[in-house]
Amino acid sequence: MNFRPRGRRPARPPHGARPPTAASHAAAIRSLPKVTEKPGLAPLAPATDAELHAVAASPFTALGLTVELVRSLTAEGYTTPTPIQEAVIRPCLEGRDVLACAQTGTGKTAGFVLPLLQKLAAQPSTGKVRVLVLTPTRELAAQIAERIDAYGRNLSLRHVVIYGGVSQLRQEVALANAPDILVATPGRLLDLIGQGKLRLDGVTDYVLDEADRMLDMGFVHDVRRINTMLPAQRRTLFFSATFPPAIETLARTMLRDPFRVSVAPKVTTAEGVDQAVVFVHREDKRVLLEKVLALPEVSRAIVFTRTKHGANRLSEQLERAGIVSSAIHGNKSQGARERALEGFRAGTTRVLVATDLAARGIDVEGISHVINFDLPNVPESYVHRIGRTGRAGATGRAISFCDGEERPLLADIERLIRKRITELRVELPARAPAPAGVSAGASAGGPPRSEGNGDRGPRPQGPRGNGGGGGGGGGGGNRRRFSPGRRG
Ligand code: AMP
Repeated sequence: MNFRPRGRRPARPPHGARPPTAASHAAAIRSLPKVTEKPGLAPLAPATDAELHAVAASPFTALGLTVELVRSLTAEGYTTPTPIQEAVIRPCLEGRDVLACAQTGTGKTAGFVLPLLQKLAAQPSTGKVRVLVLTPTRELAAQIAERIDAYGRNLSLRHVVIYGGVSQLRQEVALANAPDILVATPGRLLDLIGQGKLRLDGVTDYVLDEADRMLDMGFVHDVRRINTMLPAQRRTLFFSATFPPAIETLARTMLRDPFRVSVAPKVTTAEGVDQAVVFVHREDKRVLLEKVLALPEVSRAIVFTRTKHGANRLSEQLERAGIVSSAIHGNKSQGARERALEGFRAGTTRVLVATDLAARGIDVEGISHVINFDLPNVPESYVHRIGRTGRAGATGRAISFCDGEERPLLADIERLIRKRITELRVELPARAPAPAGVSAGASAGGPPRSEGNGDRGPRPQGPRGNGGGGGGGGGGGNRRRFSPGRRG
């Protein structure tokens, strides 16, 4: 949680809640479990003339942002607005509703946070939550709060982040200090409202972040309920990475004459992320993974599995193979997830094994590789996964392991990104011969064609498509090669 008591305003009770007594308040705080909490960033020292000169020349200033905000952006090392920032900051400052198609990694958070901070700072506090940012996962919520902290370090605004899986009490205490901005996941938000500890009647600006993910995660009813609790007179900023019909419908019910913008996901332009696919039998994936992770250029990798159980098992197997890794998924406690992320950020854990939901919103710099150990069932998830690397202009590599059964999923992904993913061939050590009585072919992951490969019957890895080029002997006795054949 990111709560900054600044001592500039007296604490106020949450609306509709009884004010805590001094004794109950102190007891409540004492009883709080320890949670990792970063102190808010200190305000920047007064600007020098040179700094003010740089601010005046900044393209962020040209978008209409104030000196305080531009200085904190400079402190973050941002020199140029990203395309989504370029598009939405001005209409946001003008008070328009916004409908934006943009995924994580495009800089969308600053796109909505900066104008909202500017608006809030220009108006007196009402003692009520004025901005609500609703986001689907804890990680995203924490990251948005962290960005608010960074961008708003020179403004005396308060923000609180609330999500499930951690003590509610601490969040109640934070809400009692009259935050201006609330970043929340739907479940905990509704719990607190239901218990009379929070009201949304002072919200003037509402951000629905990652709307498509919200629906994927089954939050559609929660989102609709929250909509009914917000004042009708409000401005709405609606962000989604994809716009299936259900999202279009939801957006129509929430927005008034919105400014529309669509920023192509990086993957469709392939900027920054070099994508490859390796065709492999399911049972060879782990060996392949160890081989890929042993490459010197893999400095920090996220490995995606489809299931939580699969993530745990794979992380344990990697540990046994001497590769330090952590698993991160929805069944892990908040503390365990934060520890895993901290280790990954700090570089003590080189490999993070994650499921889609847990990884959404992970913003760790310098991820050199995203490895799709399992292909996602939903093609859009591929876009989100590989967006973990190559962020904000950096280069990165995405390698997908595709077994026979996953070929239709690969086809869906390629249709979505409108691009064929380059095939990568990797040599693997020979697999042990199948035990007597077990058909080697039966254990194969469904190669499209058979190639002579010693005693194991069908060749485990084949190019996509049927038949077709090359074949490349397969390494004979004790080596196996992925077929060099190109897909056709
Ligand atoms: P987001 O899509 O909001 O999750 O942002 C993705 C990453 O880009 C975050 O690490 C931001 O700190 C970073 N970022 C956002 N805007 C800029 C910018 N204008 N210049 C450089 N980095 C940025």
